[in-house]
Amino acid sequence: MRYPDSMARSAEYLRLALPLMTRQQTALHPISYAVWYEFVSGRNVPLVRALQERTRDGALLDEETTAALYREHVAEPVLDPRDARRVSEGLSRVLDNMASTAAQAGDQTARFDQSLLEWSRQLLDGRQAGEEQARQLQALMAGTREMRAAMATLQQRLDANQAEIASLREEVSQARSEALVDALTGLANRRAFEQQLARCLAGGEADQSHCLVLSDIDFFKRVNDSYGHSFGDQVLRTVAQSIKRLAGESRLAARVGGEEFALLLPATALPEAQALAEQLRSTIAASRIRRGESAQTLERVTLSLGVTQLARGESANEFFERADRALYASKRSGRNCVTVLAAKAA
Ligand code: GH3
Ligand code: MG
Ligand code: MG
Repeated sequence: MRYPDSMARSAEYLRLALPLMTRQQTALHPISYAVWYEFVSGRNVPLVRALQERTRDGALLDEETTAALYREHVAEPVLDPRDARRVSEGLSRVLDNMASTAAQAGDQTARFDQSLLEWSRQLLDGRQAGEEQARQLQALMAGTREMRAAMATLQQRLDANQAEIASLREEVSQARSEALVDALTGLANRRAFEQQLARCLAGGEADQSHCLVLSDIDFFKRVNDSYGHSFGDQVLRTVAQSIKRLAGESRLAARVGGEEFALLLPATALPEAQALAEQLRSTIAASRIRRGESAQTLERVTLSLGVTQLARGESANEFFERADRALYASKRSGRNCVTVLAAKAA
């Protein structure tokens, strides 16, 4: 259950959420309430952080931003892909069985038809029966032929259904991978990141050293304000490419916020993570992003980064929070730098 709160506690959340919600430029609908309810309850840490960022310096949420926050941080995926896959595979199995049953039935009908034919030939040849019986037999044979034709149609329909199921299955698997990919940059999205992080923390892997690098583009709002949103998008794609290249095949690079990226480093020691973060920082600082067609209009952006290592027994939230604190320490120290925060010894 997503909301285990008692009546009293939820009433308190309502009291807290109401003034916050009514202040925004968003109508007072359930989506808006869900966002603010989760905010005041404080359980949904990524949402709290995203909301704080979006409402910094008195900024107000409009409909679009509220809906985006809801989609990103509150909404459950409409379709659990694992369930969808199970259903689709089950259906497919049933159809397979039906198809083979129909094929067997078709064979049996054909054999029946053959024996009737034989019988009728013997009857006619041996003049063992009158014309009336022979006519009845002919009618019976015509019936079985019709039956066989019906079976063939059934078989065709089943084949078509099977093809449809296969294409549905393909769609589900496509939807599943799209649900985990950020459309703008092609990196893993926040959901994929959280899933991977949970996997890292679970089971035997929890004993290894995992590090997290969080990065945030410096003064990105200015980039948008000065050159427009579509150039801003281009900057995001360029930065994402660099992060992806650095991550290689074995590590997960994700876009975890508007202009925030994460690099999850399994089985990596802290100095190595710091070196990678520094490499990323210097690569971005040294690169120039082309604006428009002209070769002269090149822009520079920088990243602030935070690095930390997973402490034994801590939660994904604590791990992420510390990386975030390291990142904000970099912002405070003037940006375009890396801050490392080691986990406190237990
Ligand atoms: P700081 O150095 O402190 O990080 O400053 P900042 O300007 O980067 O940070 P701020 O959080 O004030 O602004 C982030 C901006 O990122 C605001 C938002 O409009 C922009 N942004 C978020 N997502 C996207 C996106 O998908 N495309 C574009 N073009 N801009 C985005
Ligand atoms: Mg940011
Ligand atoms: Mg920023």
